[in-house]
Amino acid sequence: RDLAAVVAGGTIDVPDFPKPGIVFKDLMPLFADGRAFREVVDGIVAHYGPDSFDVVAGVEARGFVVAAAIAYAAGVGVVPVRKAGKLPRQALSASYELEYGEATLEVHEDAFIAGQRVLVVDDVLATGGTAGAALELVERGGGAVVGFTVLMELAFLKGRERLHPRTVHALLTV
Ligand code: 5GP
Repeated sequence: RDLAAVVAGGTIDVPDFPKPGIVFKDLMPLFADGRAFREVVDGIVAHYGPDSFDVVAGVEARGFVVAAAIAYAAGVGVVPVRKAGKLPRQALSASYELEYGEATLEVHEDAFIAGQRVLVVDDVLATGGTAGAALELVERGGGAVVGFTVLMELAFLKGRERLHPRTVHALLTV
């Protein structure tokens, strides 16, 4: 099946969430559909090749769901990139601007082996602030970023441009 159509078919547009004027893309129906979820996960693994990465880094919280499935399918491990204050041991942190204020992501400082090939995963790419911080953390942690992959890219928010020259793979671009 066409994976862009599979992602679109598993997404519900939620107007005015989390605040008025924002249309939130809810991918929970895709996660809950066993056939669709397996197809998109297998599609991502096939896109990169199962032997092209050594570990998968997933961004809290929906990125964890996809990252863990990709890692299991490829037979590699998974590293959580967490919101500030959640990790129990010494961590690297990276902050990025939100419309109001800022947000911080963290990863354990020993999460990656130097030169380890890391595939970074989230569910949705919007402005690219989250992805930029996650990619920075992997690089500062000594990982070699293989790519950044999402199920859906919101092209009008120009996250891909913000992440340039790093490459983005999206199953569906809207
Ligand atoms: P960005 O930092 O690119 O502006 O926002 C991306 C982050 O916010 C991702 O971690 C993603 O999970 C979340 N996000 C932003 N907008 C949406 C959306 O419409 N749907 C979903 N599922 N997540 C979103």
